[in-house]
Amino acid sequence: MQAGTSPWSLPLCYLKLLNATENLQFTEEESSAVVIEAATAEENSKNWLVGSVITVTPVDEDFVVRIFRSVWKVKNVSAISELRPNFFLIKHVSAEAKDMILKRRPWVVHNELFSIEPFNPAWRANEYFFTTMVVWIWVHKLPLQAMNSEMVLRLGVSVGKALGVDHWIEGGNMGDFLRVLVQVDITKPLRRCVMLGNGQGKPPSPCPLRFEKLPRLCFFCGLVGHELSSCVTKPADPDERKLQYGS
Ligand SMILES: [Zn+2]
Repeated sequence: MQAGTSPWSLPLCYLKLLNATENLQFTEEESSAVVIEAATAEENSKNWLVGSVITVTPVDEDFVVRIFRSVWKVKNVSAISELRPNFFLIKHVSAEAKDMILKRRPWVVHNELFSIEPFNPAWRANEYFFTTMVVWIWVHKLPLQAMNSEMVLRLGVSVGKALGVDHWIEGGNMGDFLRVLVQVDITKPLRRCVMLGNGQGKPPSPCPLRFEKLPRLCFFCGLVGHELSSCVTKPADPDERKLQYGS
């Protein structure tokens, strides 16, 4: 067979063309759409989730699949597969199994965040961006008058999207902190505190935040997914690196 005449050369040419469909004029036959039955698609995918490891280092697909098959148990998960590099589709055996995995976020594998999102049947794989982390946050140094559900939710909203609060807040057994479940934006540095004003003219005071199951974090820029040694924004001179997020 001569060079350039392999059976795959023509389809590959088409694929390149189809990546720029705005330049093509489709024939009447090509324009005839095959419609996805919405109800069928939803029924087939109702127990699916998608996930991605948030890291700058290459991801070993087999390793991730092995770890989560073991952690989540075969009885809960019917399949985990990598659809494209670092994009995993997770099929659960039931709605309960799917909800359990969503409820116990964040999932951390070897110190890296495995970001998990609900599956959207209308989206393609490249429409997921995995820019958030759902995590319980402890808010410390709170005055007693601020330790109630309404105040906790307000504090959670100031950090991200507040999803829930500890059920025992109103029931006593409180320390000097409370917990709030928040969906935080991981494209920004992690928040270290919320400022709390007393409404009496005094300057607001910082209430430190502690994250449960915090994955790998850069102590210089405060972003999840890499550490100081691979930070692209740190100054070259070590003496100029003021570590604001840990040491
Ligand atoms: Zn960094």
